[in-house]
Amino acid sequence: MAWTNTSWLYNPKSKLPFKLSRSKIDLFLQCPRCFYLTVRLGIKRPSMPGFTLNIAVDELLKNEFDLLRKKGQTHELMKKYKIDAIPFSHPDIDTWRNNFVGKRYIHEGTNLLIFGAIDDLWINKKDELIVVDYKATSTTQEISLDDKWKQNYKKQLEVYQWIYEKSGFKVSKTGYIVYANASKNRAKFDGKLEFEMTIHPHKGDTTWIEPTIIEIKKTLDSDKLPASGAECEYCSYRKKASTKE
Ligand code: SF4
Repeated sequence: MAWTNTSWLYNPKSKLPFKLSRSKIDLFLQCPRCFYLTVRLGIKRPSMPGFTLNIAVDELLKNEFDLLRKKGQTHELMKKYKIDAIPFSHPDIDTWRNNFVGKRYIHEGTNLLIFGAIDDLWINKKDELIVVDYKATSTTQEISLDDKWKQNYKKQLEVYQWIYEKSGFKVSKTGYIVYANASKNRAKFDGKLEFEMTIHPHKGDTTWIEPTIIEIKKTLDSDKLPASGAECEYCSYRKKASTKE
């Protein structure tokens, strides 16, 4: 018998834990209405094709850090940023990085099973886990985590920090985003991309997560469609398009 609800649609009558991914929490924060339409009513936003180049960069970075994980050594980039840590070795690391499994934690008060797949974990001298996410981009601007679109990257790190903390691990408040920025300034393509690698720290605040999970549970148990998020390009497109029909 399944011990979690295998459906991605929420059923208020089910007693089984309901799986809620980190990205669904993000969707709820963006727009409770779209979240409800997706998770409770099964009406999803149109899907987008995957970002295959970003996925390739993620995979290559994982391979590179895995070589060092096996040897218990730090990465040159970590040395450059004075991060005194090594990639964390654990028998479950591949499961935790698997998008369909990830690291899971059941929030008892709501019976929601919160899960997310990390890109990497490092461990410092204080035996604290450091949550790490890889991102790929191509920009001539200086990379910063301060702009509006990066706020959900910070929340992503915080959810992972919270899941590991709740699962009994000692977790560093500081997580990192490793950025691979593809240069457009080469004279010729030659079938190659060159990346500038940078590391960006983020001091996580996980205090918003528990109240948000409780709010999500209330929303899912209600039969009322919640309000829309304030700034949504999808909805304004939908409204404008419908006036032309
Ligand atoms: S506001 Fe946007 S995100 Fe919310 S329901 Fe409408 S389309 Fe979905």
